[in-house]
Amino acid sequence: MSKKAFITGITGQDGAYLSRFLLGKGYEVFGLLARRSSDTKWRLRELQIEDDIQYVEGDLTDPASLVRALSHFGVDEVYNLGAQSFVATSWMQPILTGSVTGLGAVNLLEAIRLHDPNIRFYQASSSEMFGKIQERVQSETTPFYPRSPYGVAKLYAHWMTVNYRESFGLHASSGILFNHESPLRGIEFVTRKITDAVARIKLQKQDHLYLGNTEALRDWGFAGDYVEAMWMMLQQDTPDDYVVATGRTTSVADFCRIAFAHVGLNHADYIKTDPKLQRPAEVDVLLGNAAKAKKKLGWQAKMTLEDLIANMVDADIKRIDREQPSNRIAVTA
Ligand code: NDP
Ligand code: GDP
Repeated sequence: MSKKAFITGITGQDGAYLSRFLLGKGYEVFGLLARRSSDTKWRLRELQIEDDIQYVEGDLTDPASLVRALSHFGVDEVYNLGAQSFVATSWMQPILTGSVTGLGAVNLLEAIRLHDPNIRFYQASSSEMFGKIQERVQSETTPFYPRSPYGVAKLYAHWMTVNYRESFGLHASSGILFNHESPLRGIEFVTRKITDAVARIKLQKQDHLYLGNTEALRDWGFAGDYVEAMWMMLQQDTPDDYVVATGRTTSVADFCRIAFAHVGLNHADYIKTDPKLQRPAEVDVLLGNAAKAKKKLGWQAKMTLEDLIANMVDADIKRIDREQPSNRIAVTA
């Protein structure tokens, strides 16, 4: 009999890649669909899996909808990817971020505990929890120091995952994932903002790219690689926490340089800085050590940053040629 997985955040970048991966493994995939005024399934359509998933309406802030979803589907694994996931927005909407990104995880853990404590649970934790880094290279033992309401909310959800594992014996694992990107990344994040702009500038539809802090350094990997680590965690006999990262850090400026060079342009000719895009508190540098994931899960990042950037720029050039308005939402940062 095929295994059943329930995914919150199914319409997000990781939800789409994880769904495709699990469907490929023969899983039945169920997704929580939050009520929105417009269609949010464009990523699932791009991967041509929209019709292979069964959806249930609900919201991470509505515990009853989560219990209903779990009892309706009778699933084996739950992946909690749903979140208000954009750091800059978390200063504008700290309470919503706390409700969805923090308490939402507990709503789901409670639903599992009450409905079927044998369900295996994955929590999408984040390298943003390291924030003002306490060690040059961050691993599972590095102390946390979040720098945004998003990071604080993720830390709460992370510790609640650990707590439910220790208190109730749930098979609850937490992946501390460093930034991961793809052609399906939301356009508010810096990588996709850059690759979209590179494509538009190349196609002479835009003149400049406005950015905030271009000195920030991130450990960027490919989302398609990272969702495999999520699944691997839930196949272990024992639940645990794992850092998932590439072990290479690159500045926003260097990301731009590589992206513009991919289409034969010099980034310095097009980038302008806008102080409004600076954040109230910055995470200056992130660099992960995924040795534990490699040793215990057999996982390691496969795609290089250069290939990732090339794929993202090429996908944006194709999209802009077709001009799909549903992919573009207001860019505030
Ligand atoms: P996205 O922003 O692309 O997706 C977020 C998802 O959460 C969307 O499906 C969104 O639905 C859903 N969502 C938002 N609010 C609610 C709500 N109230 N109830 C239910 N669902 C909701 O994120 P990613 O796919 O990039 O990331 C997946 C998870 O991993 C997130 O939790 C993120 O914080 C975390 N993470 C991501 C990293 C990265 O680099 N990508 C790094 C570390 C952690 P809708 O489409 O309807 O808005
Ligand atoms: P984050 O690491 O989850 O915050 O991912 P982002 O892609 O949103 O931001 C990565 C880094 O890029 C942060 O240090 C931002 O301050 C920096 N950055 C610089 N300019 C911009 C911009 O215009 N938009 C975004 N989103 N980030 C920017």
